[in-house]
Amino acid sequence: MGEYWLRCVSDGSVQPVYSLSCPHDSSLLRADYLARQIQPKSLPGIWRFLDWLPVQGIIAEAEGAPVTYRSLGLARELGLENLYISYSGHWPERGAKMPTCSFKDLEAAPTMQRLKERGDNPTLVVASAGNTARAFAHISLITCQPVVLFVPEKALDRMWTAAPAGGEQSSSAHRDTGPVTLIAVRGDYYDAISIAEKVQSQPGFAPEGGARNIARRDGMGTVMLDAALTLGRIPRHYFQAVGSGTGGIAAWEASLRLRADGRFGSVLSRLHLAQNLPNAPIYYSWKGKEPEPVSNDMFDDVLYNRKPPYGMPGGVKDALLDTGGEVYGITNPQAAAAKKLFEQSEEIDILNAPAIAVAALEQAIAEGSVLPEDTILLNITGGGISRMKEDHTLKMLKPQTTVSHWEQAVSFLESKR
Ligand SMILES: *Cc1c(COP(=O)(O)O)cnc(C)c1O
Repeated sequence: MGEYWLRCVSDGSVQPVYSLSCPHDSSLLRADYLARQIQPKSLPGIWRFLDWLPVQGIIAEAEGAPVTYRSLGLARELGLENLYISYSGHWPERGAKMPTCSFKDLEAAPTMQRLKERGDNPTLVVASAGNTARAFAHISLITCQPVVLFVPEKALDRMWTAAPAGGEQSSSAHRDTGPVTLIAVRGDYYDAISIAEKVQSQPGFAPEGGARNIARRDGMGTVMLDAALTLGRIPRHYFQAVGSGTGGIAAWEASLRLRADGRFGSVLSRLHLAQNLPNAPIYYSWKGKEPEPVSNDMFDDVLYNRKPPYGMPGGVKDALLDTGGEVYGITNPQAAAAKKLFEQSEEIDILNAPAIAVAALEQAIAEGSVLPEDTILLNITGGGISRMKEDHTLKMLKPQTTVSHWEQAVSFLESKR
């Protein structure tokens, strides 16, 4: 299970197993797994794919996994014959049970397990505009491994956690925020990141790592693995809404492993990545266009990342080049219409971000870059919050303090020790 070498993508050199960067250049690191062929295990959730996750053990309570199913409703609307949906969220009728309703749950569980296996038990530090922080809060509550979350004040309304429905919150694990320290940041996502960077370099703390974290990427890569095992082959096309593009890199890496496995075909999935205009740096870079001025009015602000991992070896650009990929720029009205189309035809609510991917699929069909008979995987990266509210009581996590400078955060954390 999960045995691997950690190699720089640029030169293949083997690096110490918990490194986040390469010594000679800006290359990403990648796990090179001992298991050439994947043998699914009878374990819950994504742990089924343990051969290709950078962990030795599992978190049995973290049972969330992507669900791949063949679309009927949306496929009919779009005139597609082989449209498959990978659904990350809460939709019990389909077997989708992601506790925080986005595919960030796929990243949080292996990251936490890997941190535990490191042995020195550091406190994980995460900066997030919402979905990532919610996923790490949940995994921290069920494992009791500590996290410090830096969240901009404006994103605090995304910081809910699900307790079982029906009155008294008797399940104490959800009420007790012991291992979770939520710190509100006056400012935006970038202010949260810069404060987190200072805190994570203090002794006893560890950075989550973002796109450089292989546990995060290989956790997200289970979307592609689940689809390939369901279909019996690598899907021809992969559609996803991206901010950083980390999920795109993950889908590419999973395709590479599946191709090397030999049983799933020899063609990599073509990446179709979608961004929300005008805050779309990956789109402008790929198209070689001059960026439009940034707007505060985004269809989903979780998709804005000012510094995506684009140009370095093993980054988004390499993933697009290697797979013959494409990037789409989607406007707010296009996204709103696509969201409505999806929800009406598939009968489940989705987050705003994945609607951007649905709109990109519509564009690709119109441009003829996908054909009606092609096998297409549409990654619905989050959804089912309305469905979740029917089954659970959502409880808000409250920040323990609000800071404007990193010194305030450090002294607050020292006072808590
Ligand atoms: C984070 C997120 C994305 C974008 O993910 P990348 O890191 O850019 O691959 C898309 N959808 C949802 C719901 C997200 O939370």
